[in-house]
Amino acid sequence: MRVAGPGMHVLPVLMATALLAACSAAAALNPLKNASSRVKVVATFSILADFVANIGGDLVDVISLVGPGSDVHEFEPAPSDIARIADADVIVENGLGLESWLAPLVTASRSAALRVTASNGVSVRKIASSGRTDIDPHIWQDPVRAMQMVANIRDALTNVDPAHAARYMANAATYLEQIKALDSELQSRIAVIPPGKRTLVTSHDSLSYFAERYGFTVVGSALGSLSTEATDPSAREFAALVDVIKTSHASVIFLESITRPERVEKLAHETGVRIGPPLFTDALGPANTPTATYLSAMRFNAGAITTALG
Ligand SMILES: [Zn+2]
Repeated sequence: MRVAGPGMHVLPVLMATALLAACSAAAALNPLKNASSRVKVVATFSILADFVANIGGDLVDVISLVGPGSDVHEFEPAPSDIARIADADVIVENGLGLESWLAPLVTASRSAALRVTASNGVSVRKIASSGRTDIDPHIWQDPVRAMQMVANIRDALTNVDPAHAARYMANAATYLEQIKALDSELQSRIAVIPPGKRTLVTSHDSLSYFAERYGFTVVGSALGSLSTEATDPSAREFAALVDVIKTSHASVIFLESITRPERVEKLAHETGVRIGPPLFTDALGPANTPTATYLSAMRFNAGAITTALG
């Protein structure tokens, strides 16, 4: 599902314009603020939608633009997505350059929704990627930073629906305790991996926050990029990566659920390093599967990494 370029977005946006005229007029006449109606929340991807669902419970209707198992770095919106944005009371995004496709959609929708950037106030890491230094957007991979994201979403829902502030506060408090417990659990599970074996090689550079939190070294990634939209590394970059992996004594290269396996297979072949199970880095698994929530996906990843490296 590679997006060829920004031009690809123009056609669906134009197609949606007619649809929108009706939608935005209706939205303008029918803002929330009716205490009995649910808050309509659009989240950009499945992990944020799960945060919203945990905080909002039955007070909100939340949809994720990028569905479970799909790649938030690359998204081709349909006209129905613009209609959903036009109809939203709240739009929740990660920010930090993750959703470069969102701004034109919001403009096209003429949305009056409250926009919430979940990464506000979260300390960020800059890492070298595709020959540049960029901010790593994958902040949810550190549960401590995820707690700040949850607090930001809680505050936004409280602002837009103050009549139910107490319930958002209580739901968020419960969920924050669960994330705190997740962090403790991950600390103790990962403790069984000898520090010298705590090396990570993945499809794209998605785990620097996880690595910082749990004492791993990120050796490299098959794409050599913070985004899955990157082009293949050059022959020289690929050869350098092969060398780095060989000298690092990394024992596993992990697949990721959102990316195709070809590049990882090529890297594994060149380095002689075995391929580990797919990690749920940028998207949750489908509903009713063992990785359908943030908490369960993080546990799954930690278990897969521990089994592979321990
Ligand atoms: Zn990513």
